[in-house]
Amino acid sequence: MAKLYFSYATMNAGKSTLLLQASYNYRERGMRTVILIAAFDDRAGTGRVSSRIGLSDEGIPFTHEDDLYALIERLHGEETVACVFVDEAQFLGEDQVWQLARVADRIGIPVMAYGLRTDFQGKLFPGSMALLAIADELREVRTICHCGRKATMVVRMDADGNVVREGAQVDVGGNEKYVVFCRRHWEDVMKAD
Ligand SMILES: [Zn+2]
Repeated sequence: MAKLYFSYATMNAGKSTLLLQASYNYRERGMRTVILIAAFDDRAGTGRVSSRIGLSDEGIPFTHEDDLYALIERLHGEETVACVFVDEAQFLGEDQVWQLARVADRIGIPVMAYGLRTDFQGKLFPGSMALLAIADELREVRTICHCGRKATMVVRMDADGNVVREGAQVDVGGNEKYVVFCRRHWEDVMKAD
């Protein structure tokens, strides 16, 4: 039975690298994959999945308006789809997570979603909340804090290197950067004066 998988992590853990490698493994065997890329708002992105170590591939950008079940059903009708991958899955809508669950349950295509668990304030993203709730399998992609512990949290820094403690979940078009920490050091940084 096909499943809905959610691989989650904080920033810069290598989620896109894993996605691209897994997709390649299918394609190497002559199987078709579809890579979907969630946009953080209703503006479609470029459709390119890029990893920090230099891999990249074309994907299909989508917004909150798109019915992903209908999209995959149509693509699968044209040519068999062996697996669906979703990058930036934290930006899925709850209804879209259900659409992906139906892709697994009713069309029988496995769906592998990759995304951030929480934002810079330690709050769940909507897509991640729904995936954590209903995915068949959860997988944590690990990266480490400067102290060597598992990093699960992220701090947003503005262009001048100041820690950002409040603001929108997604900083559209900003010059911010993100640094990952374990929970203890994230709390130290966020609570510091
Ligand atoms: Zn630490």
